[in-house]
Amino acid sequence: MATQRILDFLATRRPSGPCLVVDLDVIEDNYKAFERALPSAKIYYAVKANPAPEILRMLAGLGSSFDTASVAEIEMALDAGASADRISYGNTIKKERDVARAFEMGIRLFAVDCVEEVEKIARAAPGSRVFCRVLADGEGAEWPLSRKFGCEPKMAVDVLRHAHKLGIEAYGVSFHVGSQQCDLDAWDKALADAKGVFEALEKEGIVLKLVNMGGGFPTRYLKDVPTAQAYGEAIFASLSRHFGNRLPETIIEPGRGMVGNAGVIKSEVVLISKKADNDNVRWVYLDIGKFGGLAETMDEAIRYPIATPHDGDETAPCILAGPTCDSADVMYEKTPYPLPLSLTIGDEVLIEGTGAYTTTYSAVAFNGFEPLRAYVI
Ligand SMILES: *Cc1c(COP(=O)(O)O)cnc(C)c1O
Repeated sequence: MATQRILDFLATRRPSGPCLVVDLDVIEDNYKAFERALPSAKIYYAVKANPAPEILRMLAGLGSSFDTASVAEIEMALDAGASADRISYGNTIKKERDVARAFEMGIRLFAVDCVEEVEKIARAAPGSRVFCRVLADGEGAEWPLSRKFGCEPKMAVDVLRHAHKLGIEAYGVSFHVGSQQCDLDAWDKALADAKGVFEALEKEGIVLKLVNMGGGFPTRYLKDVPTAQAYGEAIFASLSRHFGNRLPETIIEPGRGMVGNAGVIKSEVVLISKKADNDNVRWVYLDIGKFGGLAETMDEAIRYPIATPHDGDETAPCILAGPTCDSADVMYEKTPYPLPLSLTIGDEVLIEGTGAYTTTYSAVAFNGFEPLRAYVI
């Protein structure tokens, strides 16, 4: 939700055009809550959620490590003050020359999900550690991650054995239970799968050390979500259930859960209209849409809270749309969004919970609209 610092910033600076304002204090609180919730896990912030240098610098200062997906993200984490041993190259899809570049920069921890990727690591980053990502079904997640990343646990055994054979360290297993995962038990099945991979390889004398439990921790949008503490307890119970008293090293990679609730987008109502006199749904056109940073409204997956100057007045259903000339730039058409009848052209609205996956999803200048500006305060 908009903090007082964000409201004061908007009131005094009056930035023109749509913009994201992020409150660093909220991110600091989130980081500490994750630390308290899972004290034995290392936190690797997923840089893609919001790579603003101020955020990375603060997290580096708090002791965070970083999950990166490209050479550019590795450079951002290094520039923010993280040493190379606190950075993982967590993308399972890497060009071999990017692996080599990462290795030159000191990165020694890489994600893989097939033998082909293991061979790239063995050639371009000899002696490094790899963890193999296993598929998770993403059930319970509002933004599931599909079958693009990971392999069946049975194949992970072959992948890690291959790594061992090629002289790189078969270090562990990773998974991601799907983003905005509101089911506390989602980690349990994935941890059981991870344990299965540990056991199969141990029989061959290969001892894995790490379980990377990924991200998925939610941001509160319109519905309440469990606390970091509740996730920590559920995950720790599952870890103990499956690994007994031989707990592995663990990593969590929060992205959305670290920054989502720290940001608010200020937007302006450009037009309110109807398509026919007897239409009972109004169209509300904002100066930001799917191409300006609200890409996660795709398929109406993420439903952001929207605050208006008329909250409390009678509401009626609206279809929201962005300002571009692309007909896909429409939000919440299937399930219209209730907004006050008194809302008028020129009003400013606050789209809340937008600290994650907004600026980086904004087009460079589609239709001449500038990329989403961000202020980190
Ligand atoms: C995107 C991503 C994350 C962050 O996921 P959230 O659901 O935002 O917490 C973590 N790990 C990996 C490998 C990712 O790709």
